[in-house]
Amino acid sequence: MAELRDEKGLAKAERYYTDYGVRARELKAEGKKIIGYISALCPVEVLTAAGVVPFRLKGNVNEAITKGDAYMETIVCPFVRSVFDSAIKGKFNFIDGMVLPHQCDSLDRTSDVWRDYLNLPYFHFLNAPHVTDDPSIEFMKELLKLFIKTLEEYTGKKITDEDLKQAIAKHNENRRLMRGLYELRKVNPPLISGVEMIKVLIAAMGLPVDESNKLITEVIDEVKARAIPSNGLKKRIMIIGDQIDSVDIMDAIEGAGAYLVMDDISVGSKMYWQDIDTDKEPLQAIAERYLRKLKIPTNFVDTGGTYEDNLNARFGHMRRYIEEFKVDGAILFIYKYCDPYGFEVPAIKSYIESAGVPVLYLEDEYSTSTIARMKTRIEAFLEMMA
Ligand code: SF4
Repeated sequence: MAELRDEKGLAKAERYYTDYGVRARELKAEGKKIIGYISALCPVEVLTAAGVVPFRLKGNVNEAITKGDAYMETIVCPFVRSVFDSAIKGKFNFIDGMVLPHQCDSLDRTSDVWRDYLNLPYFHFLNAPHVTDDPSIEFMKELLKLFIKTLEEYTGKKITDEDLKQAIAKHNENRRLMRGLYELRKVNPPLISGVEMIKVLIAAMGLPVDESNKLITEVIDEVKARAIPSNGLKKRIMIIGDQIDSVDIMDAIEGAGAYLVMDDISVGSKMYWQDIDTDKEPLQAIAERYLRKLKIPTNFVDTGGTYEDNLNARFGHMRRYIEEFKVDGAILFIYKYCDPYGFEVPAIKSYIESAGVPVLYLEDEYSTSTIARMKTRIEAFLEMMA
């Protein structure tokens, strides 16, 4: 089924969110190769340059993990287990391969399970380093060359520097457009709700970059045409975490009587806030973007300065978001057994609170089964802020 005629903007995002993968299945039927990936650490520009469709994998918060746990230990984070559960149940039977970057132990230590049990025609583990100094950039460039070589062998297509430059330009445009949509959340009340925003973010991550750019442009036009709202009286909230990829927690926050105006999550601003430099050699620029610019806990930044300098380098962007988006409170939503984010909780919490903004820390499953108790805690947090 081709794109529905006249379906645009938020309606299209709603359909792509609700039936996640529907467009990838259509593209597969048209003969395109679909490569699934996990984590904001995957350099999607390389996949685009290879002529394949990058498709971000997600789990299902509404479905119990029933098959995945026969393959993975339950100390693997529930997000990874849920994605694998979906994959082993055949939900992603349209993907031709996948890329698994080394973000954390839950991904690293399960790479053989993904490789051996999904048994896809293409599989690549991108063993990204965690330190971000100059030798690590050189190491990352070598990893990218290896990644490119495996894709060339798989597709039979040479990936040139020109291909990479064009892909970088398209993905930079994608980031610029999405930042433009985020801009519309700065007014009070925001022109687009947190629930609508997450649907657009999820829809966008399942599309080829050109289609993603078109979708975001349509949503911006639609949202800009809305009447300018009168002054909002609700608290403005920012959510922080890794792959929070369903409406449920967003709905719980907004349903409790707040505006969700900003995020620092791996399907949200982490994907869109840092461009790739276009005045550098492509592999150098990609390596720098994914190691040094991407704000994830496993990219270890050492400024060589004081503890405060390092905190600013790691979390300073959150304080900037708080100022720019006029955030009143932050919700730190971390999945159980997520060590990288879990270890950072005390530092992030005190860093944000020292800016005068209260923080609610929630640790939970990747599941809607616990959403009622999360909602109770969010309501109490908002009452406390009133
Ligand atoms: S939620 Fe944490 S443990 Fe799970 S994939 Fe993300 S970083 Fe890794």
